[in-house]
Amino acid sequence: MEAVFRSQKPGFVYTRIGNPTIAEFERRIAAVEGGAGAVACASGMAAVAMALVNILDAGDEIVAANGLYGGSLSLLHDLERLGIGVRFSRSASAEDIAGKITPRTKVVFGEVIGNPSLEVMDVRAVADIAHAHGLPLFVDATTATPVLMRTIDHGADVVIHSTSKYINGFADAIGGVIIDSARFAWDGARWPALAKYSAMPRLAFTRRLRDDTWQHFGPCMAPATAWLNTLGLETLPLRVERECDNALALAEALCETDGVSDVRYPSFSQKDLCTRQFANGRAGAILTFRTGSKERAFRLLDALECALLVSNIGDVRTLALHPASTIFMHSDAAEREAAGVYDDLVRVSVGIEDIDDLVRDFRQAARRMNGND
Ligand code: PLP
Repeated sequence: MEAVFRSQKPGFVYTRIGNPTIAEFERRIAAVEGGAGAVACASGMAAVAMALVNILDAGDEIVAANGLYGGSLSLLHDLERLGIGVRFSRSASAEDIAGKITPRTKVVFGEVIGNPSLEVMDVRAVADIAHAHGLPLFVDATTATPVLMRTIDHGADVVIHSTSKYINGFADAIGGVIIDSARFAWDGARWPALAKYSAMPRLAFTRRLRDDTWQHFGPCMAPATAWLNTLGLETLPLRVERECDNALALAEALCETDGVSDVRYPSFSQKDLCTRQFANGRAGAILTFRTGSKERAFRLLDALECALLVSNIGDVRTLALHPASTIFMHSDAAEREAAGVYDDLVRVSVGIEDIDDLVRDFRQAARRMNGND
């Protein structure tokens, strides 16, 4: 017991610190992502928070790509109150991100496919810029999933998922996970939080996370969630491929639907990047469109019969939402605008249903929004 407590011997002493069911999920997701290790957390937000807090001190700066998930934006503002600066780049492009790096920057953070901006990050290009400045790249790959890309293979150093979405897949358990590539050599002089682990610079991130940050803040994943997520991993490729194919087909159908405009889907706007970066060019299962006004958006949402009005993504069921009044309610107008969250915007997370049912449903809802039924 003493040896296990001192990390001199493998073993399990207490679930907040380690548990065999959680460890098995961590082992599998690390293998799926091509990482050296993973630490499972109670939620995606806990994973984002722990990954950043693990390396940062007051006075440090984060360079964050614009168009982040609203919860992550709010978290970054909380970190600002703790003395950690955040510099937002205008977009997720390598050039814009490079322009925000200062001598105080300690990490570059962004989402592979912004939720709901849907801007796709060129992970290789951003990783190259970060590494040229001696910085690690942390990516939230929730919306891309390891099925579309293994971000570590493209240069990401730390990968974060809200497992509540695609990895779980059925919206039955909240969770998050941090996967470490163990390729970044942490310098204890530049990241004093990791100085204690300087003897093994590539393992310093996960060692400190597991032994200090995550253990002390206490956001472990529930073992039952880890078990559900382990099951989820077994069907992840099947679900994600079907969801992406449905999303592309629904996005194309919405382009031809009266009363709906500005249909946004990653491969419409960044086709070359999606083809180059994502497996089989599949570009995710989220789309957005505009309706003309908040009232019209609400009318359409209320008229949906097949899609559910739910503020989640990555479920096998199709979910629709008005982001401005829900997940972005804590953001100011400028942040909403920067994330492309307009008052008339509808976001759809596409599920595995029969595509004909989905197209029929959105078309009838649009007709009712237009006052034609
Ligand atoms: N990251 C992204 C991209 C998300 O979409 C979400 C939630 O919607 C989160 C993180 C937060 O995850 P959780 O709800 O599991 O805390």
